Amino acid sequence: MATPYLSAFATADGWQGYGNGKMPADKLCRVAPGQKLRCDAAAAYGELAAAYQADFHKELCITDSYRPYRAQVDLLRRKPTLAAFPGTSNHGWGLAVDLCDGINDFGTPQYRWMSVHAAAYGWVHPGWAREGGSRQEPWHWEFAGDSLR
Ligand SMILES: [Zn+2]
Repeated sequence: MATPYLSAFATADGWQGYGNGKMPADKLCRVAPGQKLRCDAAAAYGELAAAYQADFHKELCITDSYRPYRAQVDLLRRKPTLAAFPGTSNHGWGLAVDLCDGINDFGTPQYRWMSVHAAAYGWVHPGWAREGGSRQEPWHWEFAGDSLR
């Protein structure tokens, strides 16, 4: 699959005038306790999570979502080998999630389910995060927009 989609959502110029990690609270919507996404991504996440729950009979497990700029700086300080450079993460646009409970390992039924179904809800696993990618992160998924549906 070609991946031109993210440029439509997250550019160096920002989104609706807001910078990476500087999203105002009213542009973010809650998806789980302590977890927020840009509202269009949150709506799509809700549909994805409902489908996941219907198949696995448990909630879609999420450990991270929108990451404010200050938290990106802090994460880089604590986990320099893992964290994206501040201002470059799609977590800073409220368009990325880190998932858990099986999805965080390649080859599990939960991971395979995501690989098959996520795109139908506008979610993709970026190439760099896939098995064999430049920074393998099975848990990291991004909202690519309604164009995928
Ligand atoms: Zn992530």
